[in-house]
Amino acid sequence: MPAVTVENILALPRLPLPDATAVARPVRSVTTAPAGFEGEGFPVRRAFAGIDLTLLDPFIHMDQMGEVEYAPGEPKGTSWHPHRGFETVTYMIDGIMEHKDSGGGGGTISGGDTQWMTAGAGILHIEAPPEHLVQSGGLFHGVQLWVNLPRENKLAHPRYQDITGSKVALLSSNDGGALVRVIAGEVAGHQGPGATYTPIALSHTTVAPGAALSLPWNPSFNAIVYVLAGSGTVGPERRPVEKGQTVVLGRGDTIELAASERRTEPLEVFVLGGQPIREPIAMAGPFVMNTRSEVMQAFEDFQAGRLGSIPPEYA
Ligand code: MN
Repeated sequence: MPAVTVENILALPRLPLPDATAVARPVRSVTTAPAGFEGEGFPVRRAFAGIDLTLLDPFIHMDQMGEVEYAPGEPKGTSWHPHRGFETVTYMIDGIMEHKDSGGGGGTISGGDTQWMTAGAGILHIEAPPEHLVQSGGLFHGVQLWVNLPRENKLAHPRYQDITGSKVALLSSNDGGALVRVIAGEVAGHQGPGATYTPIALSHTTVAPGAALSLPWNPSFNAIVYVLAGSGTVGPERRPVEKGQTVVLGRGDTIELAASERRTEPLEVFVLGGQPIREPIAMAGPFVMNTRSEVMQAFEDFQAGRLGSIPPEYA
């Protein structure tokens, strides 16, 4: 799992050991993500399936894309489709994803890069592996997360942040057994590059086999841990978790993570949390609004071409 790695983890800033008064967040629930297919048929795990949206707020949807080893000709993406009212965050671990949008934006992300797209008032986009990867096949692995926008920003001007892996803030656990990549928000005073509308924090953390980490986490944020790969435990109660499981944590100051020592592969987790927006959510298909009539309006605006149109060179 390439993402971003380092030669000498001990050269990185180290997370402090939690002080004696720190409360380790208890585990509220562990769920297993069902497998499904997205876009033109690429395999995903639906990380948030079956979890109460109020516990996930401000996040609304998350897919682990792959991990899949494609044969030549097999890689698939999405067709052109619209979004309104939220942000799509795509983090690539292995493989390459190309994206293009109706506003003329676009780019290529791979190995630890993140594409942060604020759909806001509305945009059309396409997400697909590049042609050379379709021909060669290969490994494909990433995450797509949907971040909600508060009512006042739902119709914000669409925006792109191309966050290359090199910009991600890298931290080491106190003993060097875990690598924390801060993609957005702040973890233990270290700021990740992604700019967000509401306060959130997003991290991809790798815990070496047999190692443990007490990750400081903003007490006013909720906390969700998704296991991308490997196995281990979460929480002070050491609940066993494995690849494809989502853990919702309760209140506290730190997130306790430990990688199984019986395996040779590390525990790879996506850790996310934020300040809940606490507004009504009305969502249908690619639109996430506050009311049903706003969703109907989004469909109407899309049909009328008001969310943009496919650029002529791709039509
Ligand atoms: Mn999309």
